[in-house]
Amino acid sequence: MPRFGMVIDTRKCVGCQDCVIACKTENNIPEGYNRDWIITESHGKFPDIQMEIRTERCNHCSETPCVSCCPTGASHIHDVGGVVLVTHDVCIGCKACIEACPYDARFAHPDGYADKCTFCIHRVEKGENPACVEVCPTYCMYFGDLEDPNSEVSKLLKSRKWHVNLTDAGTQPNIFYLV
Ligand code: SF4
Ligand code: SF4
Repeated sequence: MPRFGMVIDTRKCVGCQDCVIACKTENNIPEGYNRDWIITESHGKFPDIQMEIRTERCNHCSETPCVSCCPTGASHIHDVGGVVLVTHDVCIGCKACIEACPYDARFAHPDGYADKCTFCIHRVEKGENPACVEVCPTYCMYFGDLEDPNSEVSKLLKSRKWHVNLTDAGTQPNIFYLV
């Protein structure tokens, strides 16, 4: 069974926000809301300081507090690639999943449902990349099947050092950051 994930090279990201704009356009996200965003973090002590720039979104975790808390089944794991999705017309807008996500990856859509990144599953099921991956001018984002040892994402994770966000959350995120 494929398990879709992303590998993001923090050494190549320049924080240009093209991925953020592509997502908003592709997914018709209303003004004031975002499914992805940019974080900058500095590490070390002067003069040995490093800046990490990360593009972040729902981690499409393997352990999903956002799905297990949902009273209606609107939040669910898709049968293609283990992508975590919300069925909008089944969502009652209770916001339990928004509270449960340790990554703050969900928001209450003005139309009354919980919303977040879908890995652009509508594109992926046509054989295309998510919009954010497609537009990145530095090619710092890779999307693919983490279960396939020959996929580019698997090879990168074998050959480079990486981290995930909030390891202590116990969610087993499927977005990996190359360092
Ligand atoms: S990042 Fe949050 S919303 Fe996305 S799958 Fe993980 S717990 Fe759920
Ligand atoms: S806001 Fe919607 S998707 Fe989230 S827990 Fe409530 S019913 Fe489920």
